[in-house]
Parts: sequence; structure tokens; C-alpha cells
Amino acid sequence: MIGGVIFMLGMIIGSFLNVCILRIPAGESIVHPRSRCPKCNQAIAAYDNIPVLSWALLGGKCRGCKTPISPLYPAVELLNGLLFLACYFAFGLTTEMAKWAVLCALLVVLMVTDMRERILPDKVNLTGAVIGLVFSLLTPVADGSAMALAARWFAFPPPAAVLSFADALLGAAAGYGFLWIVSEGYFRLRGREGMGLGDVKLMGMVGTFMGLKATLLTILAGALLGSVIGTSFMLMRRKDSQYELPFGTFLGAAALLVVFFGRPVLKWYFAGLR
Ligand SMILES: [Zn+2]
Repeated sequence: MIGGVIFMLGMIIGSFLNVCILRIPAGESIVHPRSRCPKCNQAIAAYDNIPVLSWALLGGKCRGCKTPISPLYPAVELLNGLLFLACYFAFGLTTEMAKWAVLCALLVVLMVTDMRERILPDKVNLTGAVIGLVFSLLTPVADGSAMALAARWFAFPPPAAVLSFADALLGAAAGYGFLWIVSEGYFRLRGREGMGLGDVKLMGMVGTFMGLKATLLTILAGALLGSVIGTSFMLMRRKDSQYELPFGTFLGAAALLVVFFGRPVLKWYFAGLR
């Protein structure tokens, strides 16, 4: 029952994410005006704006002019609904669930804008980073790195909220810093840009939610996904090496994997070190 409500909520928010995906890269307002058919300019009625269902009932076409509507719209709605549901199953009805659901929604937007236009809007990355920092005060990042550092410097451990905020900052610094070094290094070696600053900022944003360790795991998983899927895609399409991969999409997918499956991996890794 609660799961059903959260799934519906995820799909309704997914419908808002579609608006963000279309309008933010174009520099348009996400509140104004109402959604319109891009072809016949007819405003989309509320009863034609029900996530997934309306698209299916209308046969994937505009009610007015019958122009096909991209299946990307219902796909985004469905994906976001499923991600919200997964957050509920993984974290229960908690603040932590809300935090990961928000990160999922941010990542859905960024993955799609990067895939479609190779754009990772600053607005989404920066807003996301602020939200991540705020969430670190509401629910512990629990990375452990801030605690380990504090134990060296202070006789008494700082309050939990301070540690959590510090973990969020460490995560941001790790994500931003690591990718900045890679991107700068590539540029100096090859003389052209291999990775945009958008990817660097994306990982800074993810870092505020995840903390240090999970952020580094995300970069590792994103690099693996990018090389395996990216290479096979390029071989299939016979694109040359100049073809620009949507690295942000792979990083986003990796972050989603880490949200749901990262904990056991990190536990196993750090248990092995001891
Ligand atoms: Zn139309």
C-alpha cells in the first residue's frame, strides 16, 4: 500500500523531471508556462498528463495533431517510479529514503540530459550539492572518514551532525578533486578535452550525498561501465575514437548501483583490509 503510493509519487515527480530535462538545458523556466505540444502548440490538459497511462492511452501521439510523442517521457516516469519504490524497499519510510530518492531524481535528469545533449546543467549539479549538504545534517552520511580524522585531531569526538557534514564535504572534495585531476591530466597529455567539467561537478554533487568511500566506488564503477558499454557501443556503431561518450550517464548509472548495492561491496572491501 505505502509502496504503491511511493511508486505513484515517483512517477508524478518523474513527469516533472521530464519538464526539467527539456527546459533546463534550454535555459527556460521549469514552472512557466504549462506543457504544450511542441508541434501544434496545444496546451496539454491535466487528464492527458497522467504519468505513463496518458501516453499509453493516446497511443504515444498528441491528442490534437497526432504527432508522435517520444517514449522517453513515459520511460523517465516509469524509471523514477521504480527507483523511488526501490528506495522504499531498501531504506524503509525514513529520512534516509527521502535522501536517496532525491539523489535518484537528480541523477535521472542528469543521465538523460547528458545522453541527449551532452549537457550536465550547473543548475542541477549545484542545487543537488546544496540539497546533499542539507541532508547530511538530517541523516548521517556515516562514511567514517570524518570520524577517523577527528579521532586524530580532537580529544573528544565532535557532534554527530558536524561529523556527517564533514563526511559530505569530504565526499564532494573526493568526487570533484579526483575527476578534476583525471580531466586535467588527460587534457595535458592529449591536448584535447576528454571529460567535461560537468562530469567533475556531477561527482562533487554525488559526493555530498555519499561521502568519501562510496564516491570513489562510484567513480570506479562508472569508469568500468563507460569502458565496457562505451567500447562495445562504438564497435557496433563503427564510430571513431572522436565520438564523445556520455560519461555523465555512466557515472549516474554507477551512482544508482552504489546507492542500492554499494554497502555490501564497501563492507567486504574494508573487512579485507583489516
Ligand atoms: Zn500536437
